Amino acid sequence: MNDTAILDQALAFHGHKCWASTAGVRLGLAAMEALSASRSGAKQLHAVIETGDYHGGMCFGDGIQVTTGCTFGKGNIEKTGEGKFAVTLFDKAAGTAVRVAYRPTLQPRIKASAFMQKRAAGVPPTEIPDAEQMEVVHLVWDAPAEEIMTVGPVEARAWSEPDEVVRFAVCPRCGELVAEPYLRVAEGTAMCAACSGYPR
Ligand SMILES: [Zn+2]
Ligand SMILES: [Zn+2]
Repeated sequence: MNDTAILDQALAFHGHKCWASTAGVRLGLAAMEALSASRSGAKQLHAVIETGDYHGGMCFGDGIQVTTGCTFGKGNIEKTGEGKFAVTLFDKAAGTAVRVAYRPTLQPRIKASAFMQKRAAGVPPTEIPDAEQMEVVHLVWDAPAEEIMTVGPVEARAWSEPDEVVRFAVCPRCGELVAEPYLRVAEGTAMCAACSGYPR
């Protein structure tokens, strides 16, 4: 798949077209290139992104997920909650990692765009005309890499994590499936946390 097809796929997954998801695509691709890694079909790669919660530009994380294959579903991505636009990508087998940070060079132009003027006025991104969405996408997509990101050195970084437990149980109270490590014991019976009444 070429890079434009990956951008299209990322924007389709994301749901609208914006600067931050596009930045995520470019930085995700750059991080993989730096590590000579390919997309993580399983959990070969792990991404640590620095975005937080309830702030503009969190869309960055969707670009990272689509390009690197580090996804919240597979559990090989996490957020540090710093409200920043950077990713550290780990190649577990190689024991290497690289941090790629977004550079704000384009922010004055992005802020002045029709898209961001409307976003600042509270218009949902999906209600902004497609051409205005694409204007900010192209600002980021067409910029030279060195203008919009800093690619750090590839460093030796060992990775370790607990083995995945691939065992499930059916809760005897609610009949729903629960991953075994999450069972709680109440009145001598193993059940899901919700049915146990314990804090989750
Ligand atoms: Zn977005
Ligand atoms: Zn239950």
